[in-house]
Amino acid sequence: MSATTRAERDVPTDLDKVLDEVVEIARPAAHEGQVAREIPGMEHVDPERFAMALTEFDGTEHAAGDVDEVFPIQSISKVFSLVLALQKAEAGSGVSEELWSRVGREPSGDPFNSLVQLEHEEGIPRNPMINAGALIVDDVLLDHCDDVKASTLGLLSKLAGEPVEVDERVVAGEEETSHRNRAMANLMADFGNLRHSVDDVIESYTHACAVMMTTRQLARATRFLANDGVDPGSGDRILSGALARRVAAIMLTCGTYDAAGEFAYSVGLPCKSGIAGAIIASAPERLGVCVWSPPLDPSGNSRAGRLALSELTDRVELTVF
Ligand code: GLU
Repeated sequence: MSATTRAERDVPTDLDKVLDEVVEIARPAAHEGQVAREIPGMEHVDPERFAMALTEFDGTEHAAGDVDEVFPIQSISKVFSLVLALQKAEAGSGVSEELWSRVGREPSGDPFNSLVQLEHEEGIPRNPMINAGALIVDDVLLDHCDDVKASTLGLLSKLAGEPVEVDERVVAGEEETSHRNRAMANLMADFGNLRHSVDDVIESYTHACAVMMTTRQLARATRFLANDGVDPGSGDRILSGALARRVAAIMLTCGTYDAAGEFAYSVGLPCKSGIAGAIIASAPERLGVCVWSPPLDPSGNSRAGRLALSELTDRVELTVF
């Protein structure tokens, strides 16, 4: 067993070399996964697509593969919707109490779109990283933002360092097939945990899922979580350090569907994945990371993406543990 300590391993590393090694090992794992073709915008995506970006706070980017190709961010948007709600909470408008009385902070152990737990737990979703929880976050945002869609795009564009857009075809496709999300919203409304109409909440939610971003942009956009809440690109504070840590805690415990324990064990970073095959990861004090490979494993996480992240943290001292 190696006798090196964390401090000894924490030497400057050639991240470009590490990235090359990681990509070579991880990329073939995509062959065993399944692309979520039912997701609008993903019908024709090439399963061989692969991209990984590691972005330092000074803007240095270590990038491999199709890092400038856009895809719908899907569930990764749940992190940024929560950030918007917490920004409102920091402004002191009582949002914090309201939000956390309507959605929990525990892992669900159930699929991201499950209705079962919601029935047992009387319309209070387990956490904001599953669909039901994100619908509550959107419902809260509808009360506190003049224009939720514009606020979402504004935040993501600022963090990405360039404008990002919604693909309206993805929105239209998702709205047509959102039966399960509507069922959740209706169930929560029945339990008295929805203030706005199901249609309005679903519309906000699908717009956030349909924001199109690249791997490079998402790696940049994740950095503020690793930097105590300050966006290194603009120097602006996005959240207090205390709240940025809490968002990261929710990502670590709830951000990767039913595989959060496995991610904590093998990757050791706060992560959030989306069904289009991207995963963002925050490496405290070091990097924003994004990896994208569309084929998913049975838990709904990118198969090659997960392997790439665990190979990365095996090689570079980045984990939170
Ligand atoms: N738009 C998808 C849904 O609502 C997002 C799923 C995901 O990325 O986990 O089911």
